[in-house]
Amino acid sequence: MKLIMFGVDDKEVPYAKEWAEKTGNEVKIVKDQLSSTNVDSVDGYDGISVLQTSKIDDPAIYAKLNQFGIKQLSTRTAGYDMFDLDLAKKNCLKITNVSIYSPRAIAEMGLTHAMYLLRKIGEFKQRMVNNADFRWSKDLVSDEIYNQTVAIVGLGHIGGATAQIYKALGARVIAVTRATSVVYAPYVDEFVDLETALKEADIITLHVPLTSSTENMFAAPQFKKMKKNALLINMARGKVVNTADLIDALKNHEIGGAGLDTLGDETTYFSKKVASEDVPADFKELVKMPNVVVTPHVAFMTDTAVRNMVQISLNDIAAIVEGKNVKNEVRF
Ligand code: NAD
Repeated sequence: MKLIMFGVDDKEVPYAKEWAEKTGNEVKIVKDQLSSTNVDSVDGYDGISVLQTSKIDDPAIYAKLNQFGIKQLSTRTAGYDMFDLDLAKKNCLKITNVSIYSPRAIAEMGLTHAMYLLRKIGEFKQRMVNNADFRWSKDLVSDEIYNQTVAIVGLGHIGGATAQIYKALGARVIAVTRATSVVYAPYVDEFVDLETALKEADIITLHVPLTSSTENMFAAPQFKKMKKNALLINMARGKVVNTADLIDALKNHEIGGAGLDTLGDETTYFSKKVASEDVPADFKELVKMPNVVVTPHVAFMTDTAVRNMVQISLNDIAAIVEGKNVKNEVRF
């Protein structure tokens, strides 16, 4: 069969080629995102994969895909908000996403942030770089990970992988979660409520989805209840944490540090090159602090995750073209 992939990044190309070779199918690589101007190039193909930030909201695109005999629209990401689901339904297009591509990728980035903060690398770096101060200062003596109580907030795929890592390192793992998974329970020493986690944890690591129940889950009242040296790691969604309150808590030494792969206002600048005057003030303030580490929503960005995003998407397209059901089909 012949598949066409839009919005292809260079790092995806080897995995698309590997899949084509392994399955004997043809995969056409297109760097541009799918749009009204290039939709005609889909004619003659059996299936289509996209990866894009721009919405696909032109009804003519959906109508043409239907007319070309396309049965599905697959995104190589977990989010599928680029599609207009009503237009997809009207044009008999199934939607698939890649909901789980590598929980370990995100879990390992969370651990990386936590270890950087625990061993006070930011503080050492600032003193060495700014003041040529290489002293073994007493206030920079750190603890060791197996002595820490780590609270996982949201014990799903990523929280579970995180629990497994910390457990293997000998930490005491406690978890705050909605649904208790039997798969991840062996990595948890104790299931607790949020109040207990705030009181007992040395590291709190967030892995909940952004919902009305988790928006601002961590704000001034929660920071005030945390240990003074506690580290907050946010690998989930920016708005789970109130950034202004977090900055205050850090300035007031209410918590020990923060590792953030996501921020509430990130969509205006993460994954983009912006003019320095367009960098938001909260980001500038956070990265000045030696006890803060910020990465631009890249926890997912590992070779394993990219390979899975590409190949799971292509497998699902091939299965749909062959008339099979796939578990990643979005029901709407
Ligand atoms: P998941 O659905 O497997 O797990 C989420 C867990 O959170 C579930 O166990 C659920 O019971 C729990 N939960 C939901 N609401 C809760 C609440 N109010 N209190 C306590 N627990 C609650 O999801 P996942 O695949 O583990 O992903 C988690 C989140 O990670 C995603 O929603 C996304 O926001 C984020 N994520 C970040 C990156 C990144 O690159 N930083 C990549 C992928 C996903």
